Amino acid sequence: MSTASTSNDLSDSCIICSSKHERIRPSLCQCKHCSRSLCFDCMKDHHDELQLSIAQVSNRYNELKQLIDTKIILITKETVASTHELSEWYTTLIDSLTVEKESIDLNIEKEEQKAKKFVYEIESEMQTFQDDIQTFTKNNTFRSENLTKIFEKLDELIQRLDSLS
Ligand SMILES: [Zn+2]
Ligand SMILES: [Zn+2]
Repeated sequence: MSTASTSNDLSDSCIICSSKHERIRPSLCQCKHCSRSLCFDCMKDHHDELQLSIAQVSNRYNELKQLIDTKIILITKETVASTHELSEWYTTLIDSLTVEKESIDLNIEKEEQKAKKFVYEIESEMQTFQDDIQTFTKNNTFRSENLTKIFEKLDELIQRLDSLS
């Protein structure tokens, strides 16, 4: 009977008292979280520990939240900075491209005028033979040496024109 009674006492005793404080105290309540049977003092300590853990978890949660907020602000800031940088870079490039294009346009215009002048000069030289050719056609008379000369001149003009490419 006495053995059974001791065993009963032990099973109803505070677990923390026996495991940490090397004493035996009757348990008064059972913790709803860990299901351990505890005496009043240990329950109070255990309650304080739980409160501390909850406070720590809450603090850690707030730390993480603050970190996330900081990162979001950083991302937004970086995005704005990158967009601004790209925009400046784009404007600079467009400006220098515009200047470059205007310069190239001018050069193209100059080259066009030069090439046209070259062709018009050949055209005006060619026209000096028009009267001669008309005369040949009209009278149906020509001197073959003259005709050969004009042929050679025209060939020369064609060659000059071909050199333009
Ligand atoms: Zn206890
Ligand atoms: Zn507990």
